[in-house]
Amino acid sequence: MTTCCSWNDVSQYETNKVIRIQSTSYGTIKWFFHVLFFSYISFALVTDKRYQRKEPVISSVHAKVKGIAEVKEEIMENGLKKVAWNVFDTADYTVPLQGNSFFVMTNFQKTEGQVKGLCPEYPTRRTLCSSDRGCEKGWMGPKSKGIQTGRCIEYKGKQKTCEVSAWCPVEAVEKAPEPALLGSAEKFTVLIKNNIDFPGHNYTTTNILPDLNTTCTFHKTQNPQCPIFRLGDIFRDTGDNFADVAIKGGIMGIEIYWDCNLDTWSHHCRPKYSFRRLDDKTAKESLYPGYNFRHAKYYKENNTEKRTLIKAFGIRFDILVFGTGGKFDIIQLIVYVGSTLSYFGLATIFIDLLINTYSSKWCRSHIYPCCKCCEPCAVNEYYYRKKCESIVEPKQTLKYVSFVDELHIRMVNQRLLGTSLQDVKGEEVPRPLMDFTDLSRLPLSLHDPPPVPGQPEAIQLLSEEVTPRSSDRPDWCQCKNCLPSQLPEKQRCLEELCCRKEQGACITTSELFSKLVLSRHVLQFLLHYQEPLLGLDEDSDNSRLRHCAYRCYTTWRFGSQDLADFAILPSCCRWRIRREFPKPGGQYSGFKSPY
Ligand code: GDP
Ligand code: ZN
Ligand code: ZN
Repeated sequence: MTTCCSWNDVSQYETNKVIRIQSTSYGTIKWFFHVLFFSYISFALVTDKRYQRKEPVISSVHAKVKGIAEVKEEIMENGLKKVAWNVFDTADYTVPLQGNSFFVMTNFQKTEGQVKGLCPEYPTRRTLCSSDRGCEKGWMGPKSKGIQTGRCIEYKGKQKTCEVSAWCPVEAVEKAPEPALLGSAEKFTVLIKNNIDFPGHNYTTTNILPDLNTTCTFHKTQNPQCPIFRLGDIFRDTGDNFADVAIKGGIMGIEIYWDCNLDTWSHHCRPKYSFRRLDDKTAKESLYPGYNFRHAKYYKENNTEKRTLIKAFGIRFDILVFGTGGKFDIIQLIVYVGSTLSYFGLATIFIDLLINTYSSKWCRSHIYPCCKCCEPCAVNEYYYRKKCESIVEPKQTLKYVSFVDELHIRMVNQRLLGTSLQDVKGEEVPRPLMDFTDLSRLPLSLHDPPPVPGQPEAIQLLSEEVTPRSSDRPDWCQCKNCLPSQLPEKQRCLEELCCRKEQGACITTSELFSKLVLSRHVLQFLLHYQEPLLGLDEDSDNSRLRHCAYRCYTTWRFGSQDLADFAILPSCCRWRIRREFPKPGGQYSGFKSPY
């Protein structure tokens, strides 16, 4: 027995034993798979640069909008409406925002000269009233411009609304001006400065090259590296109309994608720009479409604080920078190669599947009796037999039985519960093919020496005494040579087995039985073959000869050692052997399960 964790355990290597099938078709399938996988793996290695260690980009962005717009505004002067042209520059229409975003105002509603005080609400369905009872003191709705005082006062003409404490006059609830006041913002340009860093690769760069022509404008095909974008062009690129979006505003994403190859032999690290409309174009009126916010300019007039409220509609540009930088890394290459090795096993899985499914079991149920189609099945069956060794669990109940008038062997794997073994149906198992090389080793050519006068009679006498008498022949016997079992009542059914299923000649009467099983000479030869210096004297070693004879019979009739260990001898053979090599006293222990 080997001890656990000895040096021998460490200094050993286990490998799988393989079966090589010489077959053109399976060889072709194998190579087809191997070439296919190899091509795919190499392709992915090169195109995906799987040999590189990739790192996400870290970046900072800075955007500068340029452009002047002229806006036609209606202003009140001495109670009269007048049209005035107003110039808007960067400071007027851009509002700094947090993060990688900037805002360009395209439309606005102005409420000028607001002072803190009491005034009527702007008339809507909720704020109209006819008397003070329609107004609730202290009430304030989500859309209110101030806190209600509880009074109902005149707004304009006969219209009355609830009075509020707010910035007065309150902002009018009106639709955004159409067309957009700063529609010419379409011509504005934005310069985006983007510095990126791959700290793991110690690499820094920017999207603006030192030799940049500052008068360029980005164009997808003609000038894809220019970082100056015309706002109108951005919208054209996403299929939107700037003039439409300008009315209510919107959100536009400017994506900067860096796919950097930092290997010296194929260095490339330039950004790719693309645009994406980020707000919901299809949103309904009630869901506040577009993009707007309010801000106010505060000032003092005659020592009273006043403000101009501006509801600004416009486009928020979100700059999204993403991408990776990759550089050759031997570890990544090894990991990739390692992860792809399993693909080569797929050929084996596929071919094994073919062999298993197209072996004759499948054929019999699907295409039998079309014999031509079964040809490959027969071959597969052969491969299957060669590669698969099935083992039955060596249970106490496992037994094999062989009848001389049946081609197959029967496997019985159940408790007998009083039924004699002869009558149990069992499961049919094919008889293992005879290996004739083993047979040639048997000393069949050896002739039995002539019997020593006087001795056989003595044995005969002894056996006559101990063997059960042949007059009480059991009813399950078909060969007329079986005898009742000697075992206790409960185990008796195990030995109730004949050499035949149907009536006929007994196997013990065959010439081979006496030559293979009963020949003292052969048995002695076999015992000496195992133990060359074994001293065998006639009497004491009957037991050895008897057990050897049992084994000779089981190996002869069951072929494989796996089956022979669990094989049950028919009663006729058992008693014929015992008669030849009896035990003094005549009490035999019978079959014992080896496990
Ligand atoms: P013993 O010599 O008094 O022990 O009694 P037996 O002549 O019955 O021999 C018992 C030995 O032979 C045990 O090792 C049994 O396993 C084996 N033996 C007896 N009967 C059978 C049998 O039917 N099949 C097999 N395979 N072995 C048997
Ligand atoms: Zn019989
Ligand atoms: Zn028989």
